[in-house]
Amino acid sequence: MNNPSAHTSPAPRRRVAVIGAGPGGLSTALAFHRAGHDVRLFERQDAVRPIGGAVLLSLPVLSILRDMGVDIHRLGAYAVTEFRNHRGRLRTRLPFNKKAEARAGIPGWHYGMLRSAALERMLDVIPPELIQPNKRFLRYEESAQAVTVHFEDGSQWEADLLVGADGIRSQVAQQTFGDLGLFHCGIQVWLAWCHCENMPPDVGWISHSRTVQASFFPILHEGKPAVEWWVVEPWNEGQTPPSDTKAHLLKHLDGWADPLPRLAAATDFERNCFRWEIYNRPALKSWSRGRVSFVGDAVHPVSPYAAYGMGMAIEDGWWLAKCLEGVDLAEPAALAKGLASYDRQRVAFTNKNAAMARYMGYLFHRTPWPLTVLRDVVFDHTGFLEKALTEQYLKDAELQMESLPIQTPSLLRASI
Ligand SMILES: Cc1cc2nc3c(=O)[nH]c(=O)nc-3n(C[C@H](O)[C@H](O)[C@H](O)COP(=O)(O)OP(=O)(O)OC[C@H]3O[C@@H](n4cnc5c(N)ncnc54)[C@H](O)[C@@H]3O)c2cc1C
Repeated sequence: MNNPSAHTSPAPRRRVAVIGAGPGGLSTALAFHRAGHDVRLFERQDAVRPIGGAVLLSLPVLSILRDMGVDIHRLGAYAVTEFRNHRGRLRTRLPFNKKAEARAGIPGWHYGMLRSAALERMLDVIPPELIQPNKRFLRYEESAQAVTVHFEDGSQWEADLLVGADGIRSQVAQQTFGDLGLFHCGIQVWLAWCHCENMPPDVGWISHSRTVQASFFPILHEGKPAVEWWVVEPWNEGQTPPSDTKAHLLKHLDGWADPLPRLAAATDFERNCFRWEIYNRPALKSWSRGRVSFVGDAVHPVSPYAAYGMGMAIEDGWWLAKCLEGVDLAEPAALAKGLASYDRQRVAFTNKNAAMARYMGYLFHRTPWPLTVLRDVVFDHTGFLEKALTEQYLKDAELQMESLPIQTPSLLRASI
């Protein structure tokens, strides 16, 4: 792993333009602001709205949020993640890693929360004057000295570094790398939450039938226990969404083990359910070019399988600022070196996660019928799933946690 903290001398205050105020943009703006730079966060909408349903954030992301001054106290709930079949048969448990827990000073591994709650906590520590609403990015021009960003309203801003955090259909990425090559992954996700009594304690499920995933995880909603749940189903691009979401999901959950059907029955579908079709793009070898770099979905949209887009976007922003610590952003050679260090830190790791998540999506939702029988026998009766999850996902994430260049203040130990 890189050693970005090798840069120790303070850097001169320079101008950083961040396009897009999703989790990646908020994290980037916050990290560069804390590093002392003159940051502007440009958002096309008229306000930054914390929206979205269920997310799981893992220890590295929580450690990073805390390092940036975000209050993570009672932000989410932790539980053991269990993989089961739709009848409730246990396939495997994702273990907690005691070393990673001790390193973070945070118990558990996955924390369930609402995307909106995490965004609100980030907004709490971002000075409002950094955020520039109603600024739709159009294009940029770059010289050796600076990058000038142009907006739809005719205004422009000159920066030393431009960060594209404008999501899956990133216009900044399109200008930098050309056609995004987005492709539909053949699945869609329903994300919902509710209050529900008599839940199994301290446990979250990721459970599968032949073609559908239905899962739940405890969360805190405004400090009180609640449950997030989600359904992943095969879905073709252009397919018409159902007119009655509740009936559609209850049909999927018919015969599913408790508590999944109860959760669907207890949900306010008008307010607390979101639909999200999954697209990916071909992996990039580098995310940085000249004075421009990227975070989040703009360069690595992911399927929700074990590679949580929100968490990775937050990590990207923090790592970008970390890799540029002590670097004079106005100086092209130093900037290029810092950005190369960021690319080394993030690109391969993130591409691997995105590819693994895509593979899991195909495996669980698009496997041809006769093979699903064989697949489920293997998952139900062998240690294959546990081995794949531990080796393909958990090991890398734990290594990342253990080597995060963050000091855990003793006062904050076990603080969530
Ligand atoms: C609405 C929404 C809900 C989601 N809900 C969940 C969820 O519940 N659970 C889960 O696991 N994952 C969810 N995801 C996915 C996950 O949160 C994403 O992977 C994550 O949001 C990626 O963060 P990002 O900052 O890279 O991009 P985004 O969150 O997409 O943010 C991009 C931002 O850029 C702005 N923008 C775009 N184009 C321009 C432009 N030209 N000029 C200026 N601004 C621009 C957008 O308005 C947006 O604010 C959701 C994503 C979205 C977009």
